[in-house]
Amino acid sequence: MKPNLPNPQPEGSSRRPAPGGLGLLQSFINTLEIETGQDKLGTGAGLESWLREHGLAEATTSISAADAQHCAQVREALRDLLEANRGSAVAKSAAEALSRAARSSQLVLRFDDGGGAILQPAATGVDATIGRILSIAYAAMIDGSWHRLKVCEDDTCRWAFYDYSKNCSGSWCSMAVCGNRSKARRYRTRRKPSTSSTRESHRR
Ligand SMILES: [Zn+2]
Repeated sequence: MKPNLPNPQPEGSSRRPAPGGLGLLQSFINTLEIETGQDKLGTGAGLESWLREHGLAEATTSISAADAQHCAQVREALRDLLEANRGSAVAKSAAEALSRAARSSQLVLRFDDGGGAILQPAATGVDATIGRILSIAYAAMIDGSWHRLKVCEDDTCRWAFYDYSKNCSGSWCSMAVCGNRSKARRYRTRRKPSTSSTRESHRR
C-alpha cells in the first residue's frame, strides 16, 4: 500500500514522453517552447535537423522555409486539437487545417498480408511527414491512448504532455512548475478585492 502523502502530486503531471508512436507526435508539438519562444521549426534548416533527429529525413528532399512554416501551422492545429482532451472546445479553424493537411498528405489505407491495415501518406516530401504524424494521431484515437495526450492548462506553457495518472485527471505538464504557478495565480486572483483595477498586469 502506498504511503498517504500530505500533498500528493498527480501522477499524470509530468514531462515523461508518451508511449510508442505517440511520443513522436508529442515531440513534434513540443518543437515550440511557448514560454521562451524557442522554435525548432522556425527555419527550413531547423525542420531538416528535427526530421533527421527523428529518422524522418529520408521522406523529404529539399526543405524550404515555407515547408517549416507549413509544419508549424499543422503543429499549432494539433496543439489546439489536444484542448478537447481536457474537455475544452477545439477551434473550428484547427480542425479544418488538419483536414486540409490530411488531404495534402493523401492518407490512404494500406492493407498488408498479415491481415492488418494502416493509414499511410501517398504524398512525398514534407506532406508525407505530416501525413505520418496525422496517422499517428488517428491510430491513437482508435487504440484509446489519444485522450491521454493533453495540452498543459497553463496558457503560458501549453506543452503537450501524456497524462499517466490512473484516472486521467492531470491538467499540467509539470505539477511542480505549471501546477503551482496556476494555483498561486488563482490564489492571488481570489485575494484581489473585487473593486480593484482590472488593469493589473499579468506579466511576471
Ligand atoms: Zn506546463
